[in-house]
Amino acid sequence: MRSLFIFIILMTGAQAAERLVIAHRGASGYLPEQSIAAISMAHAQGADLIEIDLVMTSDDRIVVLHDPYLNNLSSVPAVFSDHARKDGKYYVVDFTLEELRALELSERFNDEGASFPDRFPVHKSSFEIFTFEEAIELIEGLNKSTGKDIGLLVEIKLPEFHFENGKDIAYEALKVIKCYNYLKRSDNIVLQDFDFNSLKRIREVLFPAMDMELKLNQLLDGSDRYDWMRQPDGMAFLSNFVDGIGPHMGIVVDERSTKDDIIITPLVQMAHDAGLWVHVFTFRADEGMIPDYADDFEDLLDIFWNKAGIEGVITDFADRAIKFKDKNK
Ligand code: CA
Repeated sequence: MRSLFIFIILMTGAQAAERLVIAHRGASGYLPEQSIAAISMAHAQGADLIEIDLVMTSDDRIVVLHDPYLNNLSSVPAVFSDHARKDGKYYVVDFTLEELRALELSERFNDEGASFPDRFPVHKSSFEIFTFEEAIELIEGLNKSTGKDIGLLVEIKLPEFHFENGKDIAYEALKVIKCYNYLKRSDNIVLQDFDFNSLKRIREVLFPAMDMELKLNQLLDGSDRYDWMRQPDGMAFLSNFVDGIGPHMGIVVDERSTKDDIIITPLVQMAHDAGLWVHVFTFRADEGMIPDYADDFEDLLDIFWNKAGIEGVITDFADRAIKFKDKNK
C-alpha cells in the first residue's frame, strides 16, 4: 500500500513537471525575429510550440510582427518617409500588405545600433514580413514534410489599439484560424494576450458565436493592472476564462533573489491550485540577459523548471532549452 502511495506521488510529480519549450518569435536568438527563416529554424530545433505575434494592416490583413510599428525592424523610413505619424513612428496599421511586402525585415535595432549585438547582423541578407496565413501554412507544411507535430502559440497584439484604429484583431485572427480548421481545444494552437478583457470576450462571445473553442493563455507582468490576478481568488476567477498563464520571470522568481537565496513567489502554486499551466517569458542567453541569481542560461532553466516548478519556458534559444531538457529528464 505504501509503495503504491509513493508511486502515485511520483506519478503526480512527473505530471506536474511536464516541460514545454516554446520558441519565442521563432529562433530569434539566431535570425531576425518572426522571419520565415527564424520560424523554420525553430521548427528544425524541435520546439514544442512556436510563438508568433499578430498585428493588422490598413487593408485588414494580419501580419506576423511584434511591434505595432516598424521603426526597429525594417528599412521603412528610407522607403515610405511620408507614412510616419506625429510621434515619428511608422504604424503597421497605416500600411497595406503590399507596402509592407516592399520592406526588408531586419534584425532588431534601436538608436544605438543592434538591440542584441551578438545576434544576426542588422540590415543583412534578405527577409520579409509575412502573413498569419503564411505562418500557419509554413508550420503545417513543415509538420507534414518532417512528420513532426509542432504547434503555434499566437499572441494577439494590442486589441484596444487596434479597435482605436478601426480593427477587430481578435475576431479577424479567429476567422483565419477557423479557415485552417483549428476549432477545438485539442488542436495544436494556443492564443495569448496581455489584455484580459479581450481573452474574456474571445471565450464568452467570439468562441460561441464562431462555434470554436481553443486554449487561451493570459500573459502578465509585474505592473499593477495584474495585481488582482496575483491573488488566489483572482487566479481562480481567471481560470474560468483561460487555460494557463504566461508570467514575466520577475514575478515567478523575485528579482531580489541571490545565488544563495532564490525567492520563489507564490504565483506558480496559485496558478497550479487554480488548474492553470505556467509558461514563463523570456529566457535569453545573451550576455547581460541572465539575472544575477543564476550562474548561466542552464542554471536559470534549472531554477525555473526544478525549483519554481513551471511547465513551459518561452525562449529565444529553444535549442539550448531542449538540450537542457533532454539531459535532465
Ligand atoms: Ca509575443
